[in-house]
Amino acid sequence: METDVPTPGSLRDDLGDMPPDELRRFANEVVDWIADYLTHVGDLPVLAEVTPGDIRAALPRSAPSQGESMEDVLADFRSIVLPGVTHWNHPSFHGYFAVTGSGPGILGEMITAALNVNAMVWRSSPAGTELEEVTMDWLRDLLGLPTGFKGVIQDTASTSSLVALAAAREAGLPEARELGLAAGPRARIYASEEAHSSIAKAAVTLGLGREGIRRIPTDDRFRMDVDSLRGAVAEDRAAGIRPLAIVATIGTTSTTSIDPVEAIWEIAREHGIWLHVDAAYAGAAAIVPELRPLFAGWERADSIVLNPHKWLFTPVDCSALLMRRPEAVRAAFSLVPEYLRTAEGDRATHLMDYGIALGRRFRALKLWFVMRYFGREGIVSRIREHVRLARWLADRIDDDPAWERVVPSPFSTVVFRWAPAGVDSADQDDATERILESLNASGRVFVSHTKLEGRYWIRLSIGNLGTTQDRLQRTWDLIREKAEETAGVRLLGG
Ligand SMILES: *Cc1c(COP(=O)(O)O)cnc(C)c1O
Repeated sequence: METDVPTPGSLRDDLGDMPPDELRRFANEVVDWIADYLTHVGDLPVLAEVTPGDIRAALPRSAPSQGESMEDVLADFRSIVLPGVTHWNHPSFHGYFAVTGSGPGILGEMITAALNVNAMVWRSSPAGTELEEVTMDWLRDLLGLPTGFKGVIQDTASTSSLVALAAAREAGLPEARELGLAAGPRARIYASEEAHSSIAKAAVTLGLGREGIRRIPTDDRFRMDVDSLRGAVAEDRAAGIRPLAIVATIGTTSTTSIDPVEAIWEIAREHGIWLHVDAAYAGAAAIVPELRPLFAGWERADSIVLNPHKWLFTPVDCSALLMRRPEAVRAAFSLVPEYLRTAEGDRATHLMDYGIALGRRFRALKLWFVMRYFGREGIVSRIREHVRLARWLADRIDDDPAWERVVPSPFSTVVFRWAPAGVDSADQDDATERILESLNASGRVFVSHTKLEGRYWIRLSIGNLGTTQDRLQRTWDLIREKAEETAGVRLLGG
């Protein structure tokens, strides 16, 4: 009887992967597409011009039952998916924190996908493990941090901070490991009112609850108020609450303000509290010699997070967690089941011991490509240029009496609002919000916003390698044009 079932030991041709020739043809096509995309991305509307549900509605409700040709798949990518993309790699993307998925980084990602390595234990990926150690050592040295710091790559700063704070819990409340939190004293993490929401999320995830994080007020420059911190720690200790960690931020999300890390460290040291520094965005700037003083004191931290996928030209995702006490992180996360025990044992690093996930992507490759391709000098001059562009824009804003700006802006993010004399604050807020909306609706630029002390502010962040002064000049012209339109509407009573 004829049957479709293959005889043992044989493999039907049509049960394999895409044939290599086909892969080669489409890979070449995709690479050509990528190069064209990056050449012309600056002409596309920055923000996707879609409304919620548009993309879902354009796609079939279920997966195809028969395989389709790559021609068809790529055609749909272009016609359906691409219009729904907000172009983070656009030189006029200035929202949140501006980023670059650079050429060498893209090449690294391509190879990472092809290798498909899972760097759980050393044996499962010797090169993935050791290249990660090497790139983290290189990064630490570029940043001017002491050799005592060891790095590990996580997906995001949210994960890096969670891992760091889990280590702080392990160090400060070791009994929780066996008994959980219910058995022990209440415990707290301290962070300023300007700290990133990921810190509060970490506190909740670690079982400390919303009450487990105490928000410390900031001064007139949005820096953590050290006296308030000192008072809070003393008050908590007197009440039997165990202080676990202080999170200092260098480059807050709203205004890129800088907490006084050195003074905060004094308090951490006095009470034996873990100090974690969140420099997710700004950290890369420490590579630039004249910016290094902004980081004074961070070398004292127990852990530091910075994201190469933010200001170090590496495609998302890549977050560096630098640990002064890697053994504390390992104590928190090493739980080795039998099938993962290997002959290498303690003679090798097993990256699974330094985070939540067992499996992990080979993220070091793209960062290594980026560091090799640009080199220290290339990285320094690019970050320096972004800071120069931000100062150039800040000067334009300061020269125009219709605008107000948050000072200082030490990095590459400028925060400003439309605030002409004689217009009351609520109307200024309203107008600033409308200016932002019409800027973003223009498709020519994307900026985001923040609220500070109840007022509405526009945030413009510079971090894309395609951003030039000419382009920024056009953006500034557009901003003033939109302000005039908005003011005109106001005068007409609209
Ligand atoms: C961006 C940012 C984060 C969050 O980063 P993810 O990698 O998206 O989790 C945390 N803290 C600061 C200061 C940031 O700028």
